Amino acid sequence: YKCKWYGKKLIVVAPQYTSRICSECGRKNPQFAHMKTRDWLAVRNWTCPYCQTDHDRDENAAKNILARAIN
Ligand SMILES: [Zn+2]
Repeated sequence: YKCKWYGKKLIVVAPQYTSRICSECGRKNPQFAHMKTRDWLAVRNWTCPYCQTDHDRDENAAKNILARAIN
């Protein structure tokens, strides 16, 4: 039951938006701000222009979701 509850929460947080925010410095990447979801889904990896951290899109989104779930 615990897993199912977390699964629902992940959908509510809308991963397509959290994945555009750097999990290191918390800033939104302006390069992706106006990107269509379809185009965004083609982006697998990106580098934060502020802190130069390399991100895997899904991994970065998971970190952001986890951070929000804790806070
Ligand atoms: Zn960053």
